[in-house]
Amino acid sequence: MSYTVSGNRMKFTAISDGSFALDGGLMYGIVPKVFWRKWHEVDDLNRIRLGMWCLVCEHPDGLIVVDTGCGDKLSEKQAKIFDLARPQGDMLSCFKAQGFNPEDVRAVVLSHLHFDHSGGVTRMDDEGSYQLQFPNASVYTTRTEYKDAVDINERTRGSYFPNTLKGYEPGTRAYLLEEEKEILPGVHLMPAPGHTRGHQIVLFDDGEFKLAYWGDLIPMSTFSYVPYIAAIDNYPMETLAQKKALLSRAKAEGWHQFFCHNMNNPFGGPPE
Ligand SMILES: [Zn+2]
Repeated sequence: MSYTVSGNRMKFTAISDGSFALDGGLMYGIVPKVFWRKWHEVDDLNRIRLGMWCLVCEHPDGLIVVDTGCGDKLSEKQAKIFDLARPQGDMLSCFKAQGFNPEDVRAVVLSHLHFDHSGGVTRMDDEGSYQLQFPNASVYTTRTEYKDAVDINERTRGSYFPNTLKGYEPGTRAYLLEEEKEILPGVHLMPAPGHTRGHQIVLFDDGEFKLAYWGDLIPMSTFSYVPYIAAIDNYPMETLAQKKALLSRAKAEGWHQFFCHNMNNPFGGPPE
């Protein structure tokens, strides 16, 4: 199953890194289960399944990948805890199955550095050193996110891998942004803090056609309601402010939207 949408000059393809399970209450925060259970099957541990979707943009200036799934970074124990499932293979194999070549990727954008978004940016070789999955790409994240991923604390340590950007340290094709930036014509990286302090979203502006990659600001289409904010967001009031501002812009300007943790079509709109 492949999900694609096309703008005028850009084409977008969703690439899956599989799915994993997370406590439903952990995701839905202050929203009682009675409201969200109609959208999810819940297992006997109260877990719901989340897709792990990445986005490829075929841009006139080259390929852009947004987020990379968890790659090979989960230990066996962690993969079991999160019930990682990859019936179609991992992100890289799905990427290649769509006819894309890792060497053709010009830019990798990481919305943030949590394991399920950044783990696939490198892979470990047989000698135990990290190799770049997209050897010719520049990687873009924010300075704040990089700092927080390195400087973990008791609350954040479960979400970051210690060596997330190993091989991509600043100065070696990793760009740590401090403000909004247009990295290629019509590709805007915009700070959108809340889930983490350094979280960013991507707005592809292809003339009449606009597409927002929300990252974990709006992880699933069911989170299109403003007060639906995950309990794992570190700064929920920031999330609230960002969602209000950006969703009203999205509505006014008719943005298409990409929800990276939808189980099914990540381009799917809000539920009825
Ligand atoms: Zn996530």
